Amino acid sequence: MKILTNIFELNKAINNHSNLGFVPTMGGLHNGHISLIKISKNRCSKTLVSIYVNPNQFNNKKDFAKYPRNIKNDFKILYKLKVDYLFIPKTSEIYKKKRNKKIKLNKNDKIMCGKYRKGHFEGVLDIMDRFLRIIKAKYIFMGEKDYQQLYLIKNYIKKKYKSVVINCPTIRDKNKLALSSRNFLLSKKEHYNAGLISKFLIKFKISFSRKKNKNYSLLIQIKNLLEEKFRIRIEYLEFRNTSDLKISNFKKKYKLFIAYYINNIRLIDNF
Ligand code: AMP
Repeated sequence: MKILTNIFELNKAINNHSNLGFVPTMGGLHNGHISLIKISKNRCSKTLVSIYVNPNQFNNKKDFAKYPRNIKNDFKILYKLKVDYLFIPKTSEIYKKKRNKKIKLNKNDKIMCGKYRKGHFEGVLDIMDRFLRIIKAKYIFMGEKDYQQLYLIKNYIKKKYKSVVINCPTIRDKNKLALSSRNFLLSKKEHYNAGLISKFLIKFKISFSRKKNKNYSLLIQIKNLLEEKFRIRIEYLEFRNTSDLKISNFKKKYKLFIAYYINNIRLIDNF
């Protein structure tokens, strides 16, 4: 594995690859990331993984400070997977130019995490734009776990770059909790409860989708029930279309989206 820390080295290494797969990450690697890397390795002749915890996409400084980092373990995982390139830049390398103020969310996109995490997706689109200017990937592999992120990046990239974003399925642990670097911050009990919440919502989505009369008031009841039973604070619990993320009227394919705080840790998922 070639480790690249600056743009000069990166250019030299990947310039000639016409079938490059790119897996952007913030490290704290787990089986979710590993599945993306394996999909890339299957589909592309070379795979580049980036590890960069982008300060500009954190709307909360404390959240940035406590974001789980485990670079030693990340290296181990990437060597084992025989990844071709690891790009691990410093902030000074990435932010030679100031933040791109032109990147703004449309009103329609200020929903879910776009509504509750002010500036988050602007930071995400900005960093992806910086990466894609220097990484001419054929495919970019991203997880459906972060569905709104994937949706926004896909739409942004489509208009500006040749790279194609590929949706990858959400990987869950044996308790059905979606893997996330943030799970490392959970206590054993919180981890267990988060699994119960996932299991509950998976079942709920299935039973709801079978109902003839789909009633939104049920969703409010479910929200209250979960908040009370597990002592969590739910930021949003919404049925939205997968194609345009509009509130679902159940005529198109839809998913159930959730963001909640368990203790002070914010988790998101969709079913
Ligand atoms: P992150 O390191 O959290 O920024 O995530 C990097 C990439 O891994 C993103 O495309 C995520 O959607 C994806 N990812 C994170 N968790 C999972 C998961 N449990 N299953 C599949 N993909 C995931």
